[in-house]
Formats: sequence, structure tokens, C-alpha cells
Amino acid sequence: MERWNASCGGCEEAWVDLAEDILKVVEAVDIVLWPVALDFKRKDVEALKDGEIAVAFLNGAVRTSEQEDWSKLLRRKAGVVIAFGSCAHLGGIPGLANFSDRQGVFDAAYGYLPTVENPDGTRPELKTKMPEGDLELPEIYDTVYALDQVIDVDYYLPGCAPPPDLIMEAVGAILAGELPPKGSVLAPDKSLCDTCDRNESKPDKIELTELKRPHMTFMDPEKCFLAEGVLCMGPATRSGCGERCINANMPCRGCFGPTDEVRDHGAKFLSALASIIDINDQDEMDKLAESIPDPAGLSYMYSLPTSILARKRMKKS
Ligand code: SF4
Ligand code: SF4
Repeated sequence: MERWNASCGGCEEAWVDLAEDILKVVEAVDIVLWPVALDFKRKDVEALKDGEIAVAFLNGAVRTSEQEDWSKLLRRKAGVVIAFGSCAHLGGIPGLANFSDRQGVFDAAYGYLPTVENPDGTRPELKTKMPEGDLELPEIYDTVYALDQVIDVDYYLPGCAPPPDLIMEAVGAILAGELPPKGSVLAPDKSLCDTCDRNESKPDKIELTELKRPHMTFMDPEKCFLAEGVLCMGPATRSGCGERCINANMPCRGCFGPTDEVRDHGAKFLSALASIIDINDQDEMDKLAESIPDPAGLSYMYSLPTSILARKRMKKS
């Protein structure tokens, strides 16, 4: 079965990107839940015995009571749970909301953003009285969670979204009963720089005195971004995506998360960056730091909930 929590829908597209290979998957398994494509209901899942579903692919982070509830239900019903995609794996882009809280998110989404028209200041409520009866909505939490912060997860398929070859390898391993040890990330345990064609263009020693944003410079399609002063998370990021962004001449933003030996993706990236900065003057250093508009958002773009930081400190209520 396949289900989404807090995600953009890209992970659902990833299944469609299997093209004709999706027929092989459909032929090999019985699908018992796939809300985006097939009309199964919650009661159908509840009626199954515990452990009756062989594998559950869950994408998306967990940020509402309904997502937590569904995740726990599917954990009970499935023998193997796979966190599918960056948001389930690490918290992903929705996890950036941990730099704020529910109030802050609502203030933006229903308040001050320039495209919002909300003269009555309407906000989502858990219960709303309607002529037809009470309408209930799930609770939105202050904190966004990765899937394994809510339920036990067996495997992780990384990426925003996971690429078709890794999905097919995972499905093949499941069908052949050849899954690796529990807890494994189903992708190579090497850094993206190790597999990137541009690695060879790096000079022996990189010494940066300025940083450039992608839209502010010509990006030579042969040269290493970092060596050119364009921030690229390749040194801190797991390989396996096929260098999708690099091949489109854009630097890596880290959607595959870190390799096994790295505890904190953002800290690893900042440490790699610090090691190639060649500035000894404090004013110059401050200028360089200011040239990164959102360093925390960049370094933890996909991994804030599972980082050591986890979230912005909340005020005590
Ligand atoms: S820093 Fe980026 S461009 Fe340079 S080798 Fe690593 S992944 Fe490739
Ligand atoms: S290059 Fe980086 S951000 Fe792009 S798909 Fe690969 S891991 Fe994700």
C-alpha cells in the first residue's frame, strides 16, 4: 500500500514515473490502499488483520493528528514500513515549518502573505458549526515530524522524490526477500561528490573568498559548483539520485540527506564549507556570512526535524 502525509504529491508522481515498470509492480502485488489512485476506505484497512499488509510505503512528514493516526494504523497493519521520500525520511521541506510554530504558520498562511485575502481573519478550527452539523478538522501540530519520530520505520527510500531506479530496486528486493538490515537507507552510502562528474574539475585546494548565488553568476556546466563559490551540498549528501540537479546545472540542495556516518546533515555541510573559506579578517567574514540569505534554511532544507536542532525553541506556555 501507498499513502501520503504532509507532502507535495511529488512522491505519488514518482510511482507514475516508473512508466511501464508500474505494470510489473501491479502484477506482482495486491494493492490494498492507494488513496491518490484507487478508492479504498479507512474501514477497509481497519478490517485487515494486524501485519496483513506486506509492505507500506508512507510518504510525507507528520504534522497533523490525522497523519499521526493513519501512520500508527498502518504500522499495525503492515509487516514492513518504508519511509518514502525526503519528507518521511528526514522531515523534508514541510519540516522547515519547525523554524516557526503553528501560530506563526497560520499568521503567514491566513494573514500577512501578500496573496492572502482574509478580511475576517478566519483560521482553521478543530470544530466548525455548519447548518449540516459540526465539521471537524484534524489538529495541526506545532512541530513537524519525520515518520520515524512517530512510528517504527523499517527502511528509508530517500529523495525528493525517490528516483525510479531506486524504487524498482527496493520493490525487487522486497519481492525477492533480499532486503538489507532493518534501518537501512535504500541508496548508496557514498557522498554525492564521490559520484559527481564535476569532482575531477576541483583544484587540489579550494580557497573561497566570496560566495555566489546561482542566478548571479555564469555556471560553467563542467566545473564543480563549490570550487566556483556556488553553495552545493554534495560533500554532505548521499548519492543515488543520478546527480539530477547537477546535470540540470543546478547545485545540490541535499534532498537525499546525509550518509550513514553523518549525524547532522546541516552541520556537516557547514563544516565542509568552513574548511574551504580562505578569509582571516572578521569584517570580511561577516560580509561573506551575510551573502547567504538564509543559512539555516539552506543547510537544513530537507532535514530540520531530524537534525540536532530539531526545531526553533518554543516559548513556555
Ligand atoms: S560540490 Fe557539487 S558540483 Fe562539486 S563535486 Fe560535489 S556534488 Fe559535484
Ligand atoms: S542533486 Fe541533491 S538535491 Fe538534487 S536530486 Fe540529487 S540529492 Fe537531491
